[in-house]
Amino acid sequence: MQTPVFLDHLPDASSVSGRKSERYRHIRNKALIELLMDEDVAWVERDCPACGAPATESQTFGQVFMPFQRCSGCNTIYARRVPDQPVLDRLRAAHPAARSEGATEDEDSQAREFEFISILNWISLSDGRGDRRLRKVLDYRYSSHAPDWEAAVGRLSQSRSWQFLPLDADAAGADFADLAAALKADAPDVVLIQAEMDRVAHPEKLLATIKANAPKGTLVFIASSCADGLEYELLGAGSPSFIPLDRLAVFSISGLRSMAERLGYTVREVSTPGRRDAVILDQHFRQAANTNVPFWSGFFRDADRNRLYDLQILLQRSLRSGLLRFVIQT
Ligand SMILES: [Zn+2]
Repeated sequence: MQTPVFLDHLPDASSVSGRKSERYRHIRNKALIELLMDEDVAWVERDCPACGAPATESQTFGQVFMPFQRCSGCNTIYARRVPDQPVLDRLRAAHPAARSEGATEDEDSQAREFEFISILNWISLSDGRGDRRLRKVLDYRYSSHAPDWEAAVGRLSQSRSWQFLPLDADAAGADFADLAAALKADAPDVVLIQAEMDRVAHPEKLLATIKANAPKGTLVFIASSCADGLEYELLGAGSPSFIPLDRLAVFSISGLRSMAERLGYTVREVSTPGRRDAVILDQHFRQAANTNVPFWSGFFRDADRNRLYDLQILLQRSLRSGLLRFVIQT
């Protein structure tokens, strides 16, 4: 199994905070409150969605809006109750992703290109290792998150066929029927699941659907937020990245690994290539004048860009960044 490190430049503080992300947070929290107040919505109690450990053996992670647990067995963070998947899908379809507030079309499209090149490089790493050329990619739902995604893929993906399966609230259903049908019809080499595992009600069902309907040997590339990240360890539910409705399950490395292996997948690669942890934490500790966390308050008070860069590399190397990537094989 491989654990690559992605040496990269640090993002600017202005790109990780500000009005744009605050506004998005308010929109999602408003949607969650409306969902909680809707008496027709049924909520299902659950145990740890990653390793299955009972919720009674977990710790409280947060209580704002609704209870979130931190699994004592695998460190995964999860909402104690979730609604049905079709409810979540209809909600997302009703509030489609918009262009970032305040960003120009060019800025947004450059950000998508940067993101896409990172994904292409990631897939290319696996291309060299296996015996199978990874020509056909099935991109599940990410184009519905990111309005400029399809255009960036169109400009930059020369050698691979890229099929988008956007969110379709009517076709998906509780069992991801749209995904099952696409896998049977097109037999892709790669299934790309970006920013989806943390948003769906039953992530195990999503991976089980792929396992049941994709040909043996298919590679599934998963990118998601990571519960082992330093930001969640230090700031908990107060972390700027924690938006409850978008983080119904924040997997730990061991949690996602145990789920994948339980479903019969082989784990090929694990990494946490996040770029933002050090900058987010730096900003937090500089703003929160009263915070006095042993070691870290002093660390960030004295940190310059070089030290933040070193910390970010350390987090990647030790699988402690806030973004995880898995490659698993059916
Ligand atoms: Zn667990």
